[in-house]
Amino acid sequence: CGIVGAVSSRNIVPVLVQGLQRLEYRGYDSCGVAVHTASLDGATSGGLQRARSTARVAELLEQVQQVPVQGATGIAHTRWATHGAPVESNAHPHFSYGPTAEAHRQPTALGRVALVHNGIIENHEPLRAALQAQGYVFASQTDTEVIAHLIDSLYTGDLLAAVQAAVAQLHGAFAIAVLHHDEPHRVVAARAGSPLVLGVGQEGQEHFVASDAMALAGVTDQIIYLQEGDLVNLQPTGYSITTRDGQPLTTAERPVRTVH
Ligand code: GLU
Repeated sequence: CGIVGAVSSRNIVPVLVQGLQRLEYRGYDSCGVAVHTASLDGATSGGLQRARSTARVAELLEQVQQVPVQGATGIAHTRWATHGAPVESNAHPHFSYGPTAEAHRQPTALGRVALVHNGIIENHEPLRAALQAQGYVFASQTDTEVIAHLIDSLYTGDLLAAVQAAVAQLHGAFAIAVLHHDEPHRVVAARAGSPLVLGVGQEGQEHFVASDAMALAGVTDQIIYLQEGDLVNLQPTGYSITTRDGQPLTTAERPVRTVH
């Protein structure tokens, strides 16, 4: 239903959760946020951490303050269930722990991929069967979780390449935003059938993606409206947009607009 993602140099969790609050009016049955906890100066290497709730976004906010959940790179979601009941295990972000049976049940296991998704993956059943045959263990009933494991299975050190390869195998309407354990300061996103915008923050400081520019109203009015098949690479130092085939798109092709 709703997506917000960011790369920054400050703790971005409050911005992500406020973004979800701006999307609440659209309706949802659960919500969640995931961050990479690594510090920008490399002092802490960190890992993926998440919080999810079947209550209101305000409850998620209390959770992230109490735990606490903090990080400069993150993704957040409000879910309107299409596949799988509105329970916490089906709430996004979904994690992949790699093709190690039972890894996801170990409290110390480190997530490798975190993903949020709007829309529907129509070929989730054959993809799930193929991934289970590779050893992936599913922790939810969603169509979404197949994307997290698919990206993990295709990952060879470059999240953008893995997302591009995964998207080529997906049928359906979707917008996704993805984090990877090995690339702490990067968010990759893709749009195919569900809306997604890029928010340009202060140069060299922070950049955003969201399913609706309204989610970013508190942080930037500099918006790029992404088009069908666009892939987005966000890093604190800058962003790039490519077609689904990996062709770079120029600022003339994807202009920054000021929204009011
Ligand atoms: N199909 C996904 C699910 O059921 C995403 C639903 C949404 O767009 O919120 O989890």
